[in-house]
Amino acid sequence: KLYNLVQDLKGNIRVYCRVRPFMPGQPTNLSAVEHMDEGTITIRVPSKYGKEGKKPFMFNKVFGPSATQEEVFSDMQPLVRSVLDGYNVCIFAYGQTGSGKTFTMTGPKELTEESLGVNYRALADLFLLSNQRKDTTSYEISVQMLEIYNEQVRDLLATDGQTKRYPFLRLKKVLLNNSQNGINVPEASLVPVSSTADVIQLMDLGHMNRAVSSTAMNDRSSRSHSCVTVHVQGRDLTSGTILHGSMHLVDLAGSERVDKSEVTGDRLKEAQHINKSLSALGDVISSLSQKTSHVPYRNSKLTQLLQDSLGGSAKTLMFVHISPEAETLGETISTLKFAERVG
Ligand code: ADP
Ligand code: MG
Repeated sequence: KLYNLVQDLKGNIRVYCRVRPFMPGQPTNLSAVEHMDEGTITIRVPSKYGKEGKKPFMFNKVFGPSATQEEVFSDMQPLVRSVLDGYNVCIFAYGQTGSGKTFTMTGPKELTEESLGVNYRALADLFLLSNQRKDTTSYEISVQMLEIYNEQVRDLLATDGQTKRYPFLRLKKVLLNNSQNGINVPEASLVPVSSTADVIQLMDLGHMNRAVSSTAMNDRSSRSHSCVTVHVQGRDLTSGTILHGSMHLVDLAGSERVDKSEVTGDRLKEAQHINKSLSALGDVISSLSQKTSHVPYRNSKLTQLLQDSLGGSAKTLMFVHISPEAETLGETISTLKFAERVG
């Protein structure tokens, strides 16, 4: 109880950390992580990454390699449920490629009931709770699924024929419509859902559309942001009052730095776009947590898209992912520094 109170006083931004297990068959003796407990991760920083020595990083919560999908979800369940009370929520998965972002948000390639990620569990929980409230409130829940790649926004749920299957969306229109029912991208498909089966079918379509786009350039998914947005409209059955809530579930592009001397052309352009949008996100969240008067939303498509769900009464959860291998310690340290800046 007291712990929750302390978190609430700290504001609407929380930063969690998750360390994934070593991959099967990999040596487990060379770990990047020296020590972890409920709220701290300690890294031994070698001299080439700054001041040598043990450095602790603090989080609202740390999940170790043995944490289950259910444990992770149950911790964020109150946040998810607040959407039905009209809050706007953003949940981000941040980290280098291979650190477990997609595992947390969606699950592994072969999904089982236990391995379902946050996206599925969040929607299932909203169905459950809205059903429990059905005598007092009537809820409508619908979903959009977007991708941001090279600062362009696309609809991952488009089905209207081959040519328009994967259309670009103009964000200018988005911003003009900003206050309308909280739907920021009116051009993108908005699909009503009422069961987990609906959700699975939609996610499959989104993942398929994403895969189609990545045949030309392999594994584009790690170089684009994907965003599942859940829109909720609730009508109070006695007073007729309407409330809106929304939740953005964002699987961010890989945060790894690319060596500018090694990449050119399209790959360099991609890297610059990713870099720009992740640092814009970091800037927005850190200025919100420091309560500065100017919040720089306009510096990337990602922060423009999420503008009305970042700040104000909106609640943000940044889920930072860490790979345990010592080999990628440099990236781990820069991930932890990002977390330190936004927390
Ligand atoms: P990212 O999306 O950050 O690139 P992935 O989610 O694809 O990373 O994870 C990389 C690999 O590690 C995948 O094979 C995934 O199933 C596995 N993995 C990630 N996190 C966990 C975890 N907590 N437990 C078990 N396997 C995991
Ligand atoms: Mg991924």
